[in-house]
Amino acid sequence: MLVGGAGAAAAALGAGIAAPSASTLPSQALGVPARVGPPPGVPSSCRVPHSALHGRSRALGLPNHGRLANGIPFPQETDYSFTWDFPLGLSPNPQWRRYGSEKLVLTLECVLSAYNAAHPNLARVGVADLSRRGGGPFGARYGGLGHSSHQNGLDADVLYPRKDLCECAPDSPNDVDVARAQELIDRFVRAGAQYLFVSPALYRRHLLRGPPNIVIPLAFHDDHVHVRIYPDSMPGRRTTGPERG
Ligand SMILES: [Zn+2]
Repeated sequence: MLVGGAGAAAAALGAGIAAPSASTLPSQALGVPARVGPPPGVPSSCRVPHSALHGRSRALGLPNHGRLANGIPFPQETDYSFTWDFPLGLSPNPQWRRYGSEKLVLTLECVLSAYNAAHPNLARVGVADLSRRGGGPFGARYGGLGHSSHQNGLDADVLYPRKDLCECAPDSPNDVDVARAQELIDRFVRAGAQYLFVSPALYRRHLLRGPPNIVIPLAFHDDHVHVRIYPDSMPGRRTTGPERG
């Protein structure tokens, strides 16, 4: 006689497991397939080659004193990402706050879709501000603390994944799933990021780390990592000074 079996195991498994709320369900649980593979022409490292760029977007000037020509918006929502409005504390982020160079948008799409493919049962990753349409100043008059950089389509704020899988910004470093946050940082390093500004609290405790010339602790980054990429025209060349944020 069979006792237990799959039915009993399923019943035991179900007992005591709280059902996640709709807002914390990963996209796959909602029946949305994750995109497989990087964007066309982009290698699995997510280092975007010039040949993958078809637009005419140009990062002009510097991240803290510049403009963005022919930028494109990062999508409001995909099967692997959502957007986050920091000043209002909700999703989505309005389109005017999320214009980037084509290279930045492809880099984000590649890294975040690969992360999602590796973790289909975790939450999607949140993307907050890139640059304004056309770039230029993005200070406090645009809401919240504002940004000194984010002016020429090379900067993006990416939310750290949360332990509780909420698709929302961490309220404190204790909310951060540091293993998954570190994985995101590693993926952006492999993708050729110039700088990754991270939480000083997590960096001090060696919970977030990386090449010291790239991964840099900076105040006001306890809920997100600030990603800065090189402009397409000058791969590998440092064009920016110490301006941050
Ligand atoms: Zn930022």
